[in-house]
Amino acid sequence: MCGIVGFTGRRRAAPILLDGLAKLEYRGYDSAGLAVRDGDEPAQVVKAVGKLRNLAEKTDGGAALAGCCGIGHTRWATHGAPSLINAHPHVSGSGVSSGSDAVESQVVGVHNGIIENCSELKAKLERHGYTFYSDTDTETAVKLVDYYYKKYKLGPVDALTRAMVRIQGSYALALMFQDYPGEIFAARKDSPMILGVAEGETYLASDVPAILNDTRNVYYIGNQQAARLSPGEIHFYDLNGDEVELPLTEITWDAQAAEKGGYQHFMLKEIHEQPAAVRDTLNSLLKDGWIDLSGAGLTEEVLQSVSSIHIAACGSAWHVGVAAQYVLEELAEVPVRVELASEFRYRRLLLDENALVIVISQSGETADTLAALREAKRRGARTLAVVNVVGSTIAREADSVLYTLAGPEIAVATTKAYSAQLMAMYALAVQLALVRGKLTEDEYTGYIEELAALPDKIARILEDKGRIQWFAAKFANARDIFFLGRGADYAASLEGSLKMKEISYIHSEAYAAGELKHGTISLVEDNTLVIGVLTQSNLYEKTISNMAECKARGAYLMGLTCYGHYSIEDTADFTVYIPKTAPCFTGLLAIVPLQLLGYYTSVAR
Ligand code: GLU
Repeated sequence: MCGIVGFTGRRRAAPILLDGLAKLEYRGYDSAGLAVRDGDEPAQVVKAVGKLRNLAEKTDGGAALAGCCGIGHTRWATHGAPSLINAHPHVSGSGVSSGSDAVESQVVGVHNGIIENCSELKAKLERHGYTFYSDTDTETAVKLVDYYYKKYKLGPVDALTRAMVRIQGSYALALMFQDYPGEIFAARKDSPMILGVAEGETYLASDVPAILNDTRNVYYIGNQQAARLSPGEIHFYDLNGDEVELPLTEITWDAQAAEKGGYQHFMLKEIHEQPAAVRDTLNSLLKDGWIDLSGAGLTEEVLQSVSSIHIAACGSAWHVGVAAQYVLEELAEVPVRVELASEFRYRRLLLDENALVIVISQSGETADTLAALREAKRRGARTLAVVNVVGSTIAREADSVLYTLAGPEIAVATTKAYSAQLMAMYALAVQLALVRGKLTEDEYTGYIEELAALPDKIARILEDKGRIQWFAAKFANARDIFFLGRGADYAASLEGSLKMKEISYIHSEAYAAGELKHGTISLVEDNTLVIGVLTQSNLYEKTISNMAECKARGAYLMGLTCYGHYSIEDTADFTVYIPKTAPCFTGLLAIVPLQLLGYYTSVAR
């Protein structure tokens, strides 16, 4: 998520850091900040909300900050709203919010990622006399390192590795210690970070483009490794604090390709970020192996009292609602109605006091969804938002919020936010089912295990993308495409069809498989592509027969089903298999080949 940079050398750090952050702007952010040290002087910290140019203006393009060692950050809020006080860098002493205050703190740091056990760590640190000024998880990490530094007095690497052992979640961390001028200490787990060296200079960044103007000699620091940077030199350490050797790699990509991490487009990059987006979202809702929604205000009593659910959303988020409806009804046995947000407010809503209205939006700013939320509140319903952007209008106005941790989504065609939303809704359904007494503890644990296995299954589907690319090239000139499915597969068809038409501009429609014969089938002719989604065993034969009807009219059939349903090859001309999971969760897997199909068809065109 977002960006971190670091520099130590002989030149002024601030302009280099600002330049590096500008190269990482494509990753999206809501605020930015720098900490720069001039020799032995304490770090000067400057932060600004909004665009990077606000930070550049505040620091006169970096000229206002003297010193050759510094760290910088662009933040995508996950803990605490976007604000000056929550912007990074954070310090181990009392907080700084603005201005170029000289900070009397031992440790100052920036962080990308999510610290999952921050509440527990914060409580421990508070017991040891630390006070917190921000709402971020990052401040906990900075103060934890400070705590170990002072307790054991064994130096920064020791303090950092001790903190790494305690911290659960993901981090790319860059820290400066008051006692170690000219040096930066870094650590990484499950968040990207690279380090670069040139003559007398050392760089740190979350991605290659940030340093490509200055050096092409890069180290890829491993997961759960730490580093110590001084001008022109880097040492790496494992969790025990023992030094490890890493190979130096020369970057040969051009700067533009580097921005997308080597992917041709942001959409493809984000499709590949889905395992992480889905995993982070699930982990943020789990506590000791149980789903815990109390942080979002959804206590057991609240969930038990829900009499009906109304979901309002637009576009792909509405498809999440359609998919979730099957799961909520199946597992929690609660009546669900899914509405297009743009229609929601024009109906006479029959909401009783125990109705729960759920609005879903990546940005948290979708106008129709916001209007639906306000209407639901006006009518006295309890509201829950599923949102990706912390502090967005919808997140602020809803009674409760479940955040998806997909990180910023750059491509307009949503992929990873869709999947993360679906994961959040699955978790809600499982929890609702438990508190309403519809699942035994064993069944509940089984479902959580299934959810936890989904990220790896998505990764396996992505490994097989070459076949879909080949198929997409073959059908790139299609005039019409129909997607068919029943039940949860209908929801996947809706989203698959939207992905296809939105970026390839091929006319495509999704039909509940049994519905096609009521008129629309007359549009199926020789070589019309019909894509059947058949992941539900109980609906499999029925959808097969709908596909066969299309074949009789000359259609070319693609089947998308789970491993094991091999008889599909008797009917379909081309088949894509996805790994098995609980039938109610297949939607999260079925969508991945369909996203790839939409993407590769567009590229081929
Ligand atoms: N979790 C941290 C925060 O909310 C860092 C977010 C990021 O990766 O920018 O401040």
